[in-house]
Amino acid sequence: MSTKYPRTTAGRGRRFDSIVETIGDTPCVRVNHLAPSHVTVYVKAEFFNPASSVKDRLAISIIEEAERRGDLKPGQTVVEATSGNTGIGLALVCAAKGYPLVVTMADSFSIERRKLMRFLGAKVVLTPRAAKGLGMYQKAKELADANGWFLARQFETVDNAKIHENTTGREIIADFADTRLDYWITGYGTGGTVTGVARVLRKERPETKIILCEPASAPLIGSGTPQSRGAANAPAASHPAWTPHPIQGWTPDFIPFVLQEAVDKKYYDQVVPVPGPLGIEWSRKLAAKEGIFTGISGGATFAATMQIAEKAPAGSVLLCMLPDTAERYLSSPLFEGIAEAMSPEETQLSQSTPGFQM
Ligand code: PMP
Repeated sequence: MSTKYPRTTAGRGRRFDSIVETIGDTPCVRVNHLAPSHVTVYVKAEFFNPASSVKDRLAISIIEEAERRGDLKPGQTVVEATSGNTGIGLALVCAAKGYPLVVTMADSFSIERRKLMRFLGAKVVLTPRAAKGLGMYQKAKELADANGWFLARQFETVDNAKIHENTTGREIIADFADTRLDYWITGYGTGGTVTGVARVLRKERPETKIILCEPASAPLIGSGTPQSRGAANAPAASHPAWTPHPIQGWTPDFIPFVLQEAVDKKYYDQVVPVPGPLGIEWSRKLAAKEGIFTGISGGATFAATMQIAEKAPAGSVLLCMLPDTAERYLSSPLFEGIAEAMSPEETQLSQSTPGFQM
């Protein structure tokens, strides 16, 4: 490990005109304790984005491309269906650029996501969890049609994969220019990350194997069953392979159109199903053993990365996407069993010296 003494920093060499200018350029960080010793594993830490998730990239892309096309007028309301991170990213971008934002979200997603969006000035309209992802999507469309609002359409828009092609993918190419990169591992929600990055990797690093992960209880891609589609490439019905899963941000109950390009062009070499509890386990291990603080989907992607790493040839280099921060899941199963009260060991410590005991 390179250690420099004393530790110093040089500044970023620039000032930023807006918070949105800080989106992207997230670091790839080596995993030092959890990875098998015959390989090198890095994680791309998307929680370094200003609203702490990969979806800040999508948010700035959707808004700026719509501004450029003239589809979004100054002060026009933006509306979107989102499980959280897109809403939080959009809320940050809309706040910075002066657009009102309305988000539709199933009531099954974590409370702190709603609160964060409202904190960032957005309105959150809840939809029943029984109506699934499709329900919140249809509500957003209804509100857009009724009010003349701009619908962000994260699941269909070309501006989704495009930003990952132009930023996430370019960053990986640049940061691994001087080394081998044998595996790149990602999950999918909209499919923007995998589709955009794969466009770049397939062209410029064709030797890199792309591993796509999905919930074991919702193996939409693994099932091989195609998605039925209606107008504007929107899903026509729930996919039959979907059942509820705890990996927030991973696949909705349909194969998004943005992901379809990755399916059609075989942008992945292997699909790995990950059980939700394994995602939670690895997210906790990343935090406690590496100091790397990521959500359930990050833990699930890392679980698949560990599985690939075990079987990878010696000397392999792997890169795992970590889409967001664990702090977004305080009220979710990720923090279940993390105590508020002192444990017997902590109480013993408290009593081991005379002062300030509880
Ligand atoms: N994990 C989390 C926590 C997310 O919010 C998302 C985005 N929905 C993803 C993974 C998947 O990213 P993408 O939409 O680019 O496929």
